[in-house]
Amino acid sequence: MISVEEAQEQVLSRISRLEPERVDLLAALGRVLAEDVVSDIDVAPFDNSAMDGYAVRHADVRSASADTPIVLDVVEHIPAGVSPQVTVAPGTASRIMTGAPMPAGADTVVMVERTRPGRADGGPDGSVEILAAPSPGENVRTRGEEVRAGDTVLLAGEKIGPAAIGLAASVGHDTLLVYRRPRVAIVSTGDELVDVTEKPGPGKIRNSNSYSLAAQVMSAGGEPHILGVARDTEEHTRSMLERAPEFDLMVTTGGVSMGDFDVVKKVLEEIGELAFWKVAMRPGGPQTFGAIGETPFFGLPGNPTSTMVGFEMFVRPAVRKMAGFSALLRPRSIARLTHDVKKRAEKRYFLRSRITRSSDGRYSVTVSGNQSSALLTSMHRGNCLISLPEGESLITAGTEVLCIRLDMEEGTA
Ligand code: AMP
Ligand code: MG
Repeated sequence: MISVEEAQEQVLSRISRLEPERVDLLAALGRVLAEDVVSDIDVAPFDNSAMDGYAVRHADVRSASADTPIVLDVVEHIPAGVSPQVTVAPGTASRIMTGAPMPAGADTVVMVERTRPGRADGGPDGSVEILAAPSPGENVRTRGEEVRAGDTVLLAGEKIGPAAIGLAASVGHDTLLVYRRPRVAIVSTGDELVDVTEKPGPGKIRNSNSYSLAAQVMSAGGEPHILGVARDTEEHTRSMLERAPEFDLMVTTGGVSMGDFDVVKKVLEEIGELAFWKVAMRPGGPQTFGAIGETPFFGLPGNPTSTMVGFEMFVRPAVRKMAGFSALLRPRSIARLTHDVKKRAEKRYFLRSRITRSSDGRYSVTVSGNQSSALLTSMHRGNCLISLPEGESLITAGTEVLCIRLDMEEGTA
């Protein structure tokens, strides 16, 4: 039996990043960028107003106050999207809207709230009274303030979120080069399984693992392909596992324990290669890993939580590595255990738990229900897995323990 870390190391040493592909801008959301994105223009592309108000010469209005307003003739009205035609000469101003280009001659914008309409017969657009002195350049967004033409705005290796999509759009990129999402084949095994749409008959249960796994694949950045259920015969299991080379990764559940009909390991050894099949952990000791052709293969145990914890520990880092992420593991927090825990000393335990932050900023953690590996409710109610080390058999209330944050995506690699 190998440790969790040894197993993770073996897995990751056999996984490599997939090739990049060019996709439409929105399809890049959630993926890892494979190229630097460079701007073709200055952003902002021209000096413009940050406020609705009046474009003025600062020298004209530096002494303005509510008691001694400065009166300026209004020479033009500039909406967003048009080019100003009139130069703001001393003693004049232009009415200007947010985002509209600054007119020649003006260097400052006075927001409309600090003005009052003046006499209607002032300039071509009447006149305005300036009621407060702005600072020089106030409310002007200058050309190239955020980005200069030729600047790199997004870096290869970064994850594309909504703001990155917006930045790419603002610098003229309607496609992005990103790493491909791994295509992950999902096979559940077991003669007892019926589809989610069926009412299970005697001795049968619904196939939930295909769905929880597909959801985990999606959350990890992969593309799930549910291939269906393999019956507990070598022939049928072989026919399903032989499809592995059509995918980037294959994951099965069930059929890897010591039962009379647990044929997955046998078939793997026959048509592929087995790297390991037991990890010193609970839940989910029989974690099988190998390859069929070029395709990495994971045979996860059948109990619903063993499946999910096995995915979390071994498959998720593999999917993320293929998808181009450099941070492969979840963030971890240290938290104070609120109760005693007993365990078997020879195994690593992962307890489905809930971590909370108290008012003093410290974390505490409590198991989120029954830890039987057949039960999913405590997985759903939890937001972390407490990781309890080998070598210990009693961990007492108040001990600081390591929590794997299932509620957070990014961690260090
Ligand atoms: P196995 O590893 O095949 O012996 O399965 C262990 C336990 O997990 C058994 O109680 C199975 O009925 C259950 N199980 C196996 N596959 C699934 C599945 N796809 N969905 C829900 N439960 C499953
Ligand atoms: Mg089975």
